[in-house]
Amino acid sequence: MGKTMTEHITLSGIGVSSGIACGKAALIHPAPGRDPDELPSVDPVADGERVRAALALVSASLLKRAEKLSEESASILTATAQLALDRGLIKAIDKKLGKGQGITQAVDEALEEYAQMLKNLGGYMAERATDLYDLRDRTLCALRGLPDCGIPEFTEAVILVAHDLAPAETATLDPETVRGILIEEGGPTSHTAILAAQLGIPTIVHVKRICEVTEGEMLALDATAGKVIVSPSAEEIEKLKERAQQREKMLTNSSGEGATCDGYRVKLLANIGTLDDAQRAAQCDLEGVGLFRTEFLFLDRAEAPSLNEQIASYTQILSAFGESRVVVRTLDAGADKPLNFADLGREANPALGRRGLRLCQVREDLLDTQLAALAAAQENTQAQLWVMAPMVSTCEEAECFATKARNAGLKKIGVMIEVPAAAICARQLLEIVDFASIGTNDLAQYTMAADRTDGELAPLLNPWQPAVLQMMKIACEGAQASGKPIGVCGEAGGDPLLALVLTGLGITSLSMAPSKIKAVRAALSLSDFTTCQQMAALALKASSAQEARVSVHKLASPAILPLL
Ligand code: PEP
Ligand code: MG
Repeated sequence: MGKTMTEHITLSGIGVSSGIACGKAALIHPAPGRDPDELPSVDPVADGERVRAALALVSASLLKRAEKLSEESASILTATAQLALDRGLIKAIDKKLGKGQGITQAVDEALEEYAQMLKNLGGYMAERATDLYDLRDRTLCALRGLPDCGIPEFTEAVILVAHDLAPAETATLDPETVRGILIEEGGPTSHTAILAAQLGIPTIVHVKRICEVTEGEMLALDATAGKVIVSPSAEEIEKLKERAQQREKMLTNSSGEGATCDGYRVKLLANIGTLDDAQRAAQCDLEGVGLFRTEFLFLDRAEAPSLNEQIASYTQILSAFGESRVVVRTLDAGADKPLNFADLGREANPALGRRGLRLCQVREDLLDTQLAALAAAQENTQAQLWVMAPMVSTCEEAECFATKARNAGLKKIGVMIEVPAAAICARQLLEIVDFASIGTNDLAQYTMAADRTDGELAPLLNPWQPAVLQMMKIACEGAQASGKPIGVCGEAGGDPLLALVLTGLGITSLSMAPSKIKAVRAALSLSDFTTCQQMAALALKASSAQEARVSVHKLASPAILPLL
């Protein structure tokens, strides 16, 4: 945060949740770092005790903050609190003190080494490095007798500006006082981004130069467009506020089943990952669940959950949705979501390795137990249970999955379309299974050969990329020829304008974070099916993602513009 910026300027980033916000910038100040005047340790035992006390203090304060949070947000803080008491970490610090390092140097170095180790593991584990840095900063504050760093108490509504934000910090934010979040670093699939979207706070990540703004500077952000105006004029603020009000009114008036104004039905469903999500989604006006990411039950555990534990979890989640449809995706681990209990050996390219259904090659038992648990949960509840496999690439894989699922007693079996091979062979796949669901996050990653966890590659991963749209068209044509339903459950489904294009391509359901459903429903209800088809044709003809969006935008009814 060297230079400061006060001039009127517009910055861009990647919006990870929709909405508009205006307010003063509240900068999260950098962590204190090591004590520059510290002396080498002359009494490593006494210094070790001081470190233990500081870590225990930080752990206790994280646990206290966790008490006020939902189960899911609390679990992130609890995990960081546990890291503070990790025996290996304390041992590493003792070793450094023993070599005569100063106390803050020893803590700083030990946590840095631990974080580097997680970063080298990549993906999901690498994201946990942010939690370790959060722990390091809080511990250094405690050791140096400084006030805790991180989020301060706010007396007025603010827009939070940070170089990076730990998930532990994000989980504690109050949407009443934190009206928006702007992060200089980070990709759209980071933990921080997911938590912010869950809290419904308009958030933009990857906003280059945002940390150069001065404290208290007025900011106006439009997360839907991924734009921030620094030092906006009164007129610009007024315009944004008007848009926000219009949007709010349209969202309030949106209810019921999803359909275009001339009656083409598109089921609007929720993406969920936990029981907390399920309970929140069940309170919303939606038509069921289009993607239950079951891997959240498996990650961060030493052993797989038992059959009975899985039956209990699935039964609870299915029960929340009465007689509605609940599409469950079987375990999608591997790559950025490694499992402690499934040894895949060293994979040079984990995203191209044994992830998703391919995990069966090494741990078939995991799928068998999961299918048995789902079949038992189906018996226990009224929900229409649909079960699909992730990362399917061949008909043999679909056949194997369908046979196992039917033998377990499951009735509605599907596959996700996440790799180009599946999109191209959608018709043949749908001769084997009953439905398909396009996972646009991975379909974009594999079509464009661009790592979805890398914020720098976000433009390639844009689902408006003509090649990604072509892939979806091929998949939809395959589904139409087979007469079976095809939905979308990747992030693309939550973009109201793209939802119209997908409708024009012939999808029959859209699944997304529940907070995005109202805008998509409103956009659909204000558009007719022929226009959606024209939009799809235009988008497919474009030569860039930007051109695709701009040309579709031009065709949209002016009535839906406040939603975009
Ligand atoms: C997808 O790939 O679009 C998808 C829905 O699955 P996930 O994001 O969990 O990989
Ligand atoms: Mg996927």
